[in-house]
Formats: sequence, C-alpha cells, structure tokens
Amino acid sequence: MDYFRAGRNTLYCEGVQIERIADKFGTPLYIYSQRSFIDRFREIKRAFSMLNPLICYSVKANSNLSILKTLVKEGAGLDIVSGGELFRAKKVKCPAGRIVYSSVGKTEEEIRDALDYGIFMLNVESESELKKINSVSGMAKRKVKVSLRVNPGIDPSTHAYITTGKKENKFGISVEKAKKILLEKVKYKNLDISGIHIHIGSQITDSAPFVKAVKKVRKLIVELARNKIRIRYLNLGGGLGIVYDKEKPQTAESFAKKIIPLIAGLKCRIILEPGRFIAGNSGILITKVLYLKDTPVKRFIIVDAAMNDLLRPSLYGAYHKIVPLFQRAKSYELRAKLVDVVGPVCESGDFLGKDRRLNVKEGDYLVVLGCGAYGFSMSSNYNSRLRPAEVMVKGNKTYLIRRREEYRDLTAKEYLI
Ligand code: PLP
Repeated sequence: MDYFRAGRNTLYCEGVQIERIADKFGTPLYIYSQRSFIDRFREIKRAFSMLNPLICYSVKANSNLSILKTLVKEGAGLDIVSGGELFRAKKVKCPAGRIVYSSVGKTEEEIRDALDYGIFMLNVESESELKKINSVSGMAKRKVKVSLRVNPGIDPSTHAYITTGKKENKFGISVEKAKKILLEKVKYKNLDISGIHIHIGSQITDSAPFVKAVKKVRKLIVELARNKIRIRYLNLGGGLGIVYDKEKPQTAESFAKKIIPLIAGLKCRIILEPGRFIAGNSGILITKVLYLKDTPVKRFIIVDAAMNDLLRPSLYGAYHKIVPLFQRAKSYELRAKLVDVVGPVCESGDFLGKDRRLNVKEGDYLVVLGCGAYGFSMSSNYNSRLRPAEVMVKGNKTYLIRRREEYRDLTAKEYLI
C-alpha cells in the first residue's frame, strides 16, 4: 500500500493525515489514494507496452464514478458486467470502443443497450447467449464483435468462490465447444466472432495457472488458424493477486515476462481486465471501536463497520490486516491480546478479523487495509445499515466522492400499502 504510510504515531494517505479525514467525514469510511489507482494502472500498461494492449479496468472491483473517471482519463477502457455498469461507463464518458462486456446472463435489454452504445466487444459465455446476441444485433442491424469466453479447466489455487476457470464453474465454454462454434461461425450472420477470452479466477499470486491457461488457448488459436479461422483478439481477463498479508504476488512485470512470449506470435490484439490489481491496495476502510467485550473465552472488539460494509471476511474468510490508527508505544503493543474484530450486525459471521493481536481503547480508530477492491462495491444495507461514505485523496486534498447514506435513502424506493 504505497500511498498509505506511517508518520509520527499515525498514518497518512498521500499527504493527508487519516485521522483528520476520519474526524471530518465520520466512520465507517472508505479512503482511496488517487495516485495509487493511477500508478497501478500505469504499472500494468508499462509491463505490456510492447503489445499495446487494451487495458479494461474491471468496474466490479470498485465502481465509484470518480475512480472510473480517473482511470478512463489515463486511457483505460472498462470491463463491465451489467447494464448498471454500462450506465456508469457512459456517465464517465468512457469511449465505447474501449468497453468490453462479460457476464453469464446478459438480458436482451442489456445486449441492446450495449449495441446501441457501440461497445467494442461482448464476451460470450454460452451457445444460447450467442444465438440471442445474433438475433438482437440482427434487429439492431449492427454487426457486433464477439469473444468466446473459454473455460480452460484450470485450478488457479485461490479461494473456491473466486475460481472461475475450473470445469465445474458456471463460466465460459469448453475448448472443444468453442472450436466447434468457431468452425461453424458463418451461422451467426450478425456476429464477428473474432476473439477468445479467458478469466480463470481472482487473487492469483502465481503465474503458473495463467501460463497453463494461455497455452491451452494458444493451441486452440493455432488450430483454428490451420482451418482458416483467424482470431484477432485475445482477452486474458483479470485475476492478478495482491498483498493482503504475507503473499508474494507476481508483479505486473514478471507476469508480462511469462505471458508475452506465449502470445507474441499470435498476432492478436491483447485485452486485459485487471480489477483487484489496480484497486485493492488503493483503498482502506477506517472504523471506530465502539466497545470492548470480554467473555470467558475471548475478547471482542466491536467496531462501527460490519459485514454490510466489507463483506469479504464473512463471505470468503478473506484476510485483511487491521492496524490501530494511533500507534502507541511498544510496551502498549506488547500487552496486546488475541481478539476478534466484529461488527454490530446480527450474524455470527459478521467479523472483519479473527484472532488478531490488538490493544485498543473504546473510541480508537482502526484501519482495515487492502479494501479498495470488492469493498464498497460489495456493500449492502443489510440490517438497514447506512452504507459508508467514500473519500478520495489527491496529494494534500481530500474529496468526498460518495456521501454517507441517510435514513431516508433506506426507504426511498419503497411503497407503503
Ligand atoms: N474479468 C472478469 C470476466 C471477471 O469475472 C473478473 C472478476 O470477477 C475480473 C475481470 C476482475 O478480476 P480481478 O479483480 O481479480 O482482476
């Protein structure tokens, strides 16, 4: 987390003291470093520069408009998965030619909207969907570029919920079926089926699963070329892992070094869809300690953030480092106890961290690290809790980029009968 650093007894985001931001905007609060988003995007762009790829930031990781705008201004495209994400992409004026659209279940309306906007490419996940897109594009009198999402049957050694390229996952089409579709592609008169797409999972720290998957699709592309079917686009998806704890993930550069030699000869335009890699360590969640509670077996630190604000620990058992904002003397730290950091939601699964060594007082701030990706974007109003505000730091300035919800937001769309 390069742009979140320790200062004298406290932490900074870029040039601003985090305590000041929390005092001003309240907690729980998401705080992002704009510089970090930009640097991470540039890192991946630089690593693949010799191939001039289209890098489509995966909107689902963090879809705040100011973040999307920052990246689009840097030249990023967007990887979307719903009509709602297309709406966001339009709001930040992302050029249509830089948008790719994945999802196993695009509705007819979503497909029509995507065609109307003229997006670059649809990533297709089944034969039925292919037929549907063919018919919608026929009605719209628009030929659309399509990639087939291939499920390469690879175990990427990550959490079961974030694998997507194993045979039993719902995503993609088998290599054999993709080949058959491509050999018969003239059937789809309104489609330009010219791409292959893979996305094998998320938080993958090692290059080996990517290498395996790319070798599989390379073989497919070469076989197709022998049959005079030319693949012009190869989309490698997202999935690059980041540091949450003690991981040593591949860098963008080492990833590119492994992958480029495998694809350089294919003469395909390369597309990448990084989400977590760009956003994950560009944001934190700050929360306040409400109560300390000792039971015969454990100490609980009850904070004002909960699973509705940050779902990953409850959903995947994901690990996020939690540190006190105010760094006390070492002797104080030594008296740290083994604690669970939990939220106020009525679920035993509502925790941010378990068995952590912490010594804090009621009223202290705690910082949950690595919350820029799949943090706010997975938040909800469960227990009728208000979703937190989001703040972006830009050098020495702080900008509110989403206001804290208010009670009236909770019922704004409901009718009393
Ligand atoms: N592309 C596709 C098709 C995805 O499903 C996802 C995540 O689920 C991503 C890209 C982004 O993945 P990550 O955040 O791991 O880079």
